[in-house]
Amino acid sequence: MARIFQAADVDRTVLDGKTIAVIGYGNQGRSQALNLRVSGRHVIVGNREDESWRKAREDGFETHPMDRAATLADIVMLLLPDEVAPPIFDELIRPNLVRGNALVMASGYNVTYNHVIAPADVDVVLVAPRMIGQGVFELASRNEGVPILVGVHQDATGKALAVALALADGIGGFLPHGVVVESSFNEETLVDLFTEHTWAGAFLYILDKAFRMLIEGGVSREVAILELYGSGEIGEIGRAMATDGLWRQLRLHSHTSQFGQLTHGADFVDRKVEALMRKAIAEIRSGAFDRRWTAEQARGLPLFRRLLDEVLSSPLSKAEDELYARLGRR
Ligand code: NDP
Repeated sequence: MARIFQAADVDRTVLDGKTIAVIGYGNQGRSQALNLRVSGRHVIVGNREDESWRKAREDGFETHPMDRAATLADIVMLLLPDEVAPPIFDELIRPNLVRGNALVMASGYNVTYNHVIAPADVDVVLVAPRMIGQGVFELASRNEGVPILVGVHQDATGKALAVALALADGIGGFLPHGVVVESSFNEETLVDLFTEHTWAGAFLYILDKAFRMLIEGGVSREVAILELYGSGEIGEIGRAMATDGLWRQLRLHSHTSQFGQLTHGADFVDRKVEALMRKAIAEIRSGAFDRRWTAEQARGLPLFRRLLDEVLSSPLSKAEDELYARLGRR
């Protein structure tokens, strides 16, 4: 059973007198920096000099080039997109880490696949909110917590877990409705990629297929899109899953709907789906997916761009553009 931490497990004094450098003032960086500052921590920002840099300055943060911020910090939170972090880490961050520093990541990917390797005398911890950056800030502003996975990869000081928990506390993990769960870089990588490679991606493609089938069945494009996702009902159902439970939220639907879902849903999950899920796990564990993704980046993302172009110019996307323009959403 995974350990679920309580506020009483947090030793806030481990961050006393420490300077925290948030490297990358983006989705996660901005929210985590703001939350940590509100909780009384000394936070500086490291970013290249552009829009994000100006935003950090506007928000009142002392802002530096990334290497300078790393030099000034005791705790370095590397909050760059996973695919850009490794060369920046090697060039600007790693040379400026000193014994006893902590390196903090919000995603397991780069440590799992050895794209980021910290010096042995530095703590390496995972503090990974299961929440988009905006949510991390907005929930905490309403005094509501976020779910956060914490893990330790390297414990050079003997205090790595304490640092991770104190940071999770400062970000808002222990506020009401938050939850801080013990995990690891490998586990976070596995669950994150598994979701993307199985049901989350499948969900998008199945909605696109459903759109085509409904049109073929004589439904208008507008009604199809609103039914499938445009109404926002999916968001409400997702919220009910989180609060009531995956199956218990069914009671919010009509009996006809419940009967239909229970008698038809399982037919779509056959042996082939099971085999695809096992394959996804095997490819994540073996590093096969990472090798493909790394090679794709080295080639300049041709497949990525082609697939994105395909879906963005699909009949569904065109119908959606028209509908959303009429609804004032574009
Ligand atoms: P963003 O895409 O918001 O980018 C973060 C920062 O990186 C930006 O400030 C951006 O600054 C900078 N940046 C981007 N490209 C470059 C580059 N080539 N060189 C220098 N700086 C660059 O990242 P996220 O906040 O989404 O992700 C950060 C980490 O958090 C990742 O590890 C991610 O996996 C993790 N995470 C993200 C979640 C999310 O919902 N987004 C959820 C949980 C974890 P600039 O303006 O200069 O481009």
